[in-house]
Order: sequence, then C-alpha cells, then structure tokens
Amino acid sequence: MEKKNFMGEENKNNAPDTSRHFLKQWIADDVAAGTTGGKVVTRFPPEPNGYIHIGHAKAICIDFGMALEFEGQCNLRMDDTNPSKESDEYAASIKEDIHWLGFDWGEGFYNAANLFDRMYEIAENLIRSGQAYVCDLSQDEWKDYRGSPSEPGRASPFRSRSVEENLDLFQRMKAGEFKDGEKCLRAKINMASPNLHFRDPVLYRILHVPHYHAGDKWCIYPMYDFAHSIEDASEGVTHSMCTLEFEVHRPLYNWVIDRMDEMNMLIERNGVKIRPQQREFARLNLSYTVMSKRKLLQLVEEKLVSGWDDPRMPTVCGLRRRGYTPEAIRDFCERIGVSKYESLTDVALLEYCLRDDLNLRAVRRMAVLDPVKVVVDNYPEDMVLTAEAQNNPKDESAGKRIIPFEREIYIERGDFMEVPVKKFFRMTPGKEVRLRGACIFMCTHVVKDDSGKVLEVHGTYDPESKGGNAPDGRKIKGTIHWVPAASAVKLEVRLYDRLFSVPEPMADTQKDFVEFLNPDSLKTITAYGEPALLDAPKGGLFQFERVGYFCVDSRDSKEMAPVFNRTVTLRDSWAAKKGK
Ligand code: ATP
Ligand code: MG
Repeated sequence: MEKKNFMGEENKNNAPDTSRHFLKQWIADDVAAGTTGGKVVTRFPPEPNGYIHIGHAKAICIDFGMALEFEGQCNLRMDDTNPSKESDEYAASIKEDIHWLGFDWGEGFYNAANLFDRMYEIAENLIRSGQAYVCDLSQDEWKDYRGSPSEPGRASPFRSRSVEENLDLFQRMKAGEFKDGEKCLRAKINMASPNLHFRDPVLYRILHVPHYHAGDKWCIYPMYDFAHSIEDASEGVTHSMCTLEFEVHRPLYNWVIDRMDEMNMLIERNGVKIRPQQREFARLNLSYTVMSKRKLLQLVEEKLVSGWDDPRMPTVCGLRRRGYTPEAIRDFCERIGVSKYESLTDVALLEYCLRDDLNLRAVRRMAVLDPVKVVVDNYPEDMVLTAEAQNNPKDESAGKRIIPFEREIYIERGDFMEVPVKKFFRMTPGKEVRLRGACIFMCTHVVKDDSGKVLEVHGTYDPESKGGNAPDGRKIKGTIHWVPAASAVKLEVRLYDRLFSVPEPMADTQKDFVEFLNPDSLKTITAYGEPALLDAPKGGLFQFERVGYFCVDSRDSKEMAPVFNRTVTLRDSWAAKKGK
C-alpha cells in the first residue's frame, strides 16, 4: 500500500501509515460493492455556533481526506438547525478556516436550513402514517417518562392522538400558536427499546427565535438526529463520519433513512439508490487544552483571552495567528491516525509537527529578548564590519542577508556568566566565543551597577576571524547570537505559552476549568532585532536563532512596526519541567 497523507501527497517523515484505517477500509468495501453509485460523497457538518478548533481540523482531514482518496466529493454543510446560537460570522469563519487548511468543497456548499420545508414535509408524512405525534409533556416530564437504560419508558398520554389531531396541532405549532416548550413533535417508535434514543425521540421543538439564514419564517426547528439524516440523504452523501458520541444515535439515523426510503425520498445516482451510512471515530482530545466550543466561548466572553483568534486558543484562527501552518496541522492529523478508542493526545506532538515544518520554512533572523550590552573595545569607531548569514540553512534559495556589526552589540543576558558554571561554553571572561556570522570575541571585564547587576560586558574581537572562523583553525566551543546596538530595531514580542497549566483542565469536576489557566501564558516584552526584521510582513514566519519560532501578528502589526508572537520554543520546555 502506498503511503499517502490526507491530501493524497506522498507521506513525509514516514508518519504512521494510516492508508488502511477502518474508515478507509469501510469505504473501499462499499466502492467495491457498488453501493455509492460511482461516487463517494462525504460531508463536514459544522454547526455555525463558534469558531472551529483543532478537533474539527481532525474531522475535516478525515471527511475531505476520504473524499480525495476516493476521488469523490466532500460537502461543507452548515448544520444550522439551532438558531439561538448561530451566526453568519461563524459560518464565514468556518469557510475561511477550511480553505486555509487546504481543502475545498467545490460546488458542495449546503445549509441545513434550506431543507426546512422538506423536513417539515417528512414530519407531516410521518404523522399521516401514524409514526409521529404531537406531545404536550414538558421537557422534564418527557425525560421522566423516557425511563433509564435499565427500566423501560412509559408511554406519553398523548401518544394515541389521532392523525387528524396531530396534523392540526403540528400545523398550529408551525403557525406560532404555542409557546416555546408547550408542545413538541415526537416519533412513535418504541418506549421499551434498550436504546434511549428510540424511546419516541423528539423530532421538532418550538423556538420563537429568528434564524440567521432562514429569517423569521420558522418558529419550530428540527432536532439534530432527524435533521442530520435528512441532510445526508438529500445531498446524496454516501459516507457520514462523525465522533463516537453519535454511535448510539446511529439506529435512529437509520430509522429516519428507512422512513425516507418508504416515502421514495432517497436520491439515485447512476441507477443506485443512495442510502447514507454513518460511522464513528474517536474525537481528538489534546492535553493542556479545552476543546468544547462552549468552553472556548466562555473564555472569549469572560475576556480571559483576547478573542476567538487569541494565539493561545486551539481554534484554527488562533493557531494560524500563532504561526501554525496548514501543513503542520495536517501532518499532525495524519500522525494521530483514526481509531475508535478515546485517548488524550499530548499537545507536544502538535508542537513537534509544527517545529518540524517551521524548521523547513521559517526565515532565520537574530533577535535578543533579554539584552545585555557588549562593547568591543578594539573595534575601530569608523569601521563597518558586516556579517553574512543564511536566511534558511534548510533552503538555499532563500538566499543570504547582511547584518552590520558594530562596536556595541546586544547579546542575551543568559549567554553571559561572569563566574561560569561547569560546561558553560558561552560568553565568560577570558574565554573565546563565536558571535554568529561575525567574529570571535573574548570578554575582558565587566561594568556593574551598585547592586552588582552587569551593565556592560567589555572585550576584544579577533580581526582575523572574519565570519566567526578562526584563521588558525583553533576550536571555539560556543556560538551565540547578537544584534548591533545602534541599528537594532525594537520589537514588541509576545511570549505565548500553553493556555492551561495542567494536562487535563476539565478532569477535576469540582473545579471550574478556568482555575487551571496558566498565569504565564502571555508575557509581552521589548526585544532587539536585526535591522531586516523591521519590514517583516504580517503572517511572516521566523526562527529567531537559538530562541524559538515567531510569527508576525496579523492583527496588531503596523507597517514598519511588526509585533511578534512566539509560535513555539525550539525545544519542548514542558517535557523538561515534567522531568521527562
Ligand atoms: P464541540 O464539541 O467543540 O462543541 P461540536 O461537535 O458541537 O463541537 P460541530 O460543529 O457539531 O461541533 O462539529 C462538526 C463536526 O466536527 C462533527 O462531525 C463532530 O463530530 C466533529 N468534531 C467536533 N469536535 C471534534 C473533535 N474534538 N475531534 C474530532 N472531531 C470533532
Ligand atoms: Mg457536537
């Protein structure tokens, strides 16, 4: 079996071979059996009630990936059947994010709301055939009547209403004669079924709320299970993939499809009647992250983050703003694979995929985040030495850049130690160190303030060591980065870290998850960068050498005043903290 990723490209890095996970096998079997009418059709059905997150990205990679794999079609469907929380803003963001991830639905864009007439018609048909009834039980009563998995439910006292009465009441529900919750339409299936979803599930409820897409035409709205199967069948979807929590809904999904079949409402493709099938896979759970849209909305509404696209959010727009690439996200989705077992994926894997990708594409620059001044005492005042450095050692075509070397430079405070600890090979009095791309330097003395804080480091450079290479080939152990003091540009740098300080913020049911927010998830500092950083474009991806990967913030950067978000550190600092 060839190794391909979700985009059908050669699998890079020998990521796990997911070429025959169970969903792929399932579809391949159907294709072979001829039940698809010659075309595999999948769908990604977000509810436009929030921005999509990395978990949705997994579902997107599967839904679109399977369509690509089988040369079929993946529809994008706004599953907009619950008007109270949906909006155009969300719908637009979902489209943008899916395109950014690298997938396209072509002509296959749908709104569930466009099927409201059809759903209503199916509901009336069910009433006519005695398979649905209007029920006056309140939601609490309905739950009580439904029973539990170990005890059968009780029939609603309204279960035996006549067809005429049901039709009349349902029409009056639609006409707006009743208040929210006063009545609902239920399927008449089996109150003794071991599957609670079969115990006369609600098909329609009353909601006097206008719909962001359908306007104020409706005050009754279909429930998910009823609507979703009708949406799939109406679009001719062959393979409907979703997360495991829907597994127990599958019999009801099939029940609705069967009823549509009886009503001759299933579509045909090349003479084959298309019966959509549902299968379920484990959702993505990520450590140090919350993934429910409701929780993410809470973070936004309580202003605990700056918005849905806060670079600490696991939303696709947040990840993008942070500096994640679509390639890194797809690689991650490829590596985690597809299974039916719930698990917690270490966020370090996502960060690993990101570093792996950024290493190839990020432009190298030098920047000093916590500066200390170094004075090169033997450097002539009027001299301009230049350092030459590659823009990307992984990509020759990225070219080189010139950095002016000056008599005064900045280095990281942490790269200097007056009294070095063992194995400290960076700047320390009496030892040579390489200033990357420029020269070899030796510290001679320091100037301190009254408190003992180092104000300036002084020393001399070896004029023969152009580019940092010793002419006599003597070995220099340490290489550090630097920026020229006079021509450095001051940069606003936002040091982002994980949003939560514990691996499972939702695990403690006694506490609100916001209590586990990492107080150090954002620190804003002023850094000094080499001059070439001044006109860094919005969204530009950089590696600050020896420091980490950074992305030019697309929202707050101004011309000639880029703001840098720390995308990810060069190494997993959390693993070290955990003592791994
Ligand atoms: P949330 O649970 O975050 O509120 P949702 O499931 O309500 O999300 P939908 O818009 O209904 O959001 O989801 C669209 C699709 O994405 C569904 O098919 C759902 O199964 C899938 N999905 C949602 N969350 C995840 C996840 N964490 N991992 C994989 N797929 C997911
Ligand atoms: Mg859901």
